[in-house]
Parts: sequence; C-alpha cells; structure tokens
Amino acid sequence: MSAGRRFIPVAHPVLDGNEAAYVADCIATEWISSAGSYIGRFESAFADLVGVRHAASCSNGTSALHLALTVLGVQPGDDVLMPTLTYVATANAVRYCGASPVFVDSTPDTMNLDPEELERRITPRTRGIVAVHLYGHPADMHPIRAFARDHDLFVVEDAAEAHGARYRGEMCGSLGDLATFSFFGNKIISTGEGGMVTGDDETLDSAVRLYRGQGMQPDRRYWFPVVGYNYRMTNIQAAIGLAQLENFKVHLTLRWEVARWYDELLGDLEPFLQLPVEHPWANHAFWMYTAVLTDAVAMERDELIERLSEDGIETRPVFHPMHTLPPYRDPQAAFPVAERLAARGISLPTHGRLTKDDAAYVAERLRVHCLGNG
Ligand SMILES: *Cc1c(COP(=O)(O)O)cnc(C)c1O
Repeated sequence: MSAGRRFIPVAHPVLDGNEAAYVADCIATEWISSAGSYIGRFESAFADLVGVRHAASCSNGTSALHLALTVLGVQPGDDVLMPTLTYVATANAVRYCGASPVFVDSTPDTMNLDPEELERRITPRTRGIVAVHLYGHPADMHPIRAFARDHDLFVVEDAAEAHGARYRGEMCGSLGDLATFSFFGNKIISTGEGGMVTGDDETLDSAVRLYRGQGMQPDRRYWFPVVGYNYRMTNIQAAIGLAQLENFKVHLTLRWEVARWYDELLGDLEPFLQLPVEHPWANHAFWMYTAVLTDAVAMERDELIERLSEDGIETRPVFHPMHTLPPYRDPQAAFPVAERLAARGISLPTHGRLTKDDAAYVAERLRVHCLGNG
C-alpha cells in the first residue's frame, strides 16, 4: 500500500441500523423540531442503558454539563474541582455558571483525576467535583465520592467519552449526583450533535428539563420563573440516537475489538509506548485508544503525528491541560503528570469502521517511527 493513497480517519460514526428509517419517519410525519415521540423514547432507552431513573436529552455535551452544574446550584464565586487534563467543555461549563474551575493533576496510568490530589486543591469555596472518564476509562469514583461526602460536595460525572464504561460493575453515568454525556459525531454513539443528563433524583431531573426549555414552567405557558436556556434536542437527533442505542452492544463491542487488536499488535512496543490500562475494577469503553510515548522515543509527539499523517493515518494529540489555555492559564500551577501525558500522548484511530488490516497498518507505521528507522 503506497503512502498517501490510504486514509484512516481517527473517528467515524457507524449509522447502519434504523437511523435512516427513523429520520425518514420524522420527515414524513413532519415532527422535526424539539417535540415528537423519538425524544421520550431515546431518553427512556438511555436511562435503561445507564440504569438510572432519569435521562434528559439536550443539545450537546457542553449544554448537558452547564445544565447539571446549574441545577446543582453552582454560582458566581464558587469553585469546582476538575481534572486539568480534559476537553475544554468541562472547564467552560463551570465558567458559564460564573464559577471557577480548580484544577487537579491526573494519575499516570488512567489519565484521570487523581483522588489523592483533591485534598491539596480544595478551597473554602469549593462546591463540587466534576470527574471525567477520559478516553473511556472510568475515574476512580469511590475515593472521589468519599472525599465529596466528607466535604459536603456534589459529584458530576462527565461521561461524554464513556458510554457503556463500568466502574466496579456499575455503569458510568450512574455514579454521581448527575452525569453528562455527549453524542457528537466522534463519540461512542452519536446524534450528530447532542447530549444527555442522567441521574436518579427526580427534582434535579425536573430542574434540568426546566432550564433546557428556556425556563418555562411546565404547567403555565409562557411563565418563566428562572432564566433558562434553549438547550433542547430535536426529534431528528433523538431518532438517530434511538437507532444507535438499539445497536449499542455492537458499537461498544467493535471498539473493544479494535482495542484488542492494538494491544496484540503493539504489545512488544511497551518500552516505547505506554498502552492504555484497564484496571481490574474497570471496563474501558475505548472511546479513543490513547498511548503515551516513553522517553525511549526520541521523536516529538507532534512529529510522530505528522509522520503518521503522511502515511494516511489520522491521529490526535492528547488535550492541552486546562491550566495551559489562555482563559484558564495559571503560570504558577504545576501538574507534572498531566503535562507529560499531554506532551507525549497520542490517540490512534478508534472506531467501528476500522478493520484489522487498518490496525495492522497503523501498528506497522508506528513501529517504524518509534524505533527510529522510518
Ligand atoms: C465531547 C466532550 C464534551 C462536550 O461534548 P459536546 O457534545 O461536544 O458539547 C465534554 N466533555 C468531554 C470530556 C468531551 O470529550
């Protein structure tokens, strides 16, 4: 295969179930906006999957986070603990509430919030914790929840990357006061754009529904007791989501298969690549198969991304830690683990359209570049 001819994307949705039929049904019935039967069906199917009483759909994973933090009462002047190594939406949602994210370093293996660091970062104004299940590996929720209980804090799971992941047998999305999901095009299942807030508390669920619908009181039309948002999902998005959920097990299994291929193909590169871990207490959802270059690799991570791109392989760098971004910059702060993971981490193509042959090609090119003879 000559380089440049082949193109392997880093992510790709799989829409081979009832997606087209359900969308066609929305068009045929002319229920295309944010009312219609698919919304309730998608929500209750998602609640069943996660094993919670309530699931409220919304426009995307960022609005899901904003809604969750809003109904948990986050206000200007509050602090919210969260990992510095995450997608920017986690921090932005805190800022939308007028509050400040307070960053916490990561564990080197799972790349998730390090519970041991919480004690050092808590402030008198801290109201809660957002735990992110980064790349699909669950955060270590028991110590996080114990810390929250001791300090009277809420816990939100940002499960945008962790549909179907489990922590000690329990589903991610059922482990906090509330949890949020994203259905962006590159996520484990997608609605194009979309989000969900899950949890067991009926009062919080009603509040999420109030705020996502512009704040209109359900039993009094055009009466707005609060300043809400238009964060609704459309029936068309929910139609796609319901079809995705019908095949959820398949979507998840395809990712597990991709991860197994990479584990096999890259296992002997462990001196050069730190491969993703899966703790005995975890079931990884493998949103992204993310490896970390060790010091044995002389090449810069960004150069490796460039080389792989020339081979027709799209990859992605690990997120910049939040404390390095202009809106959240903290030159004083040092988060050495997150900084190293961000500088050396690379996500390989991980999706349900990847073939074993693709994985073998990715592994072969990685081997050549990491061993420095390519
Ligand atoms: C994708 C993602 C989000 C935001 O979801 P959108 O649907 O893109 O708004 C939030 N947090 C994390 C960790 C994500 O990966």
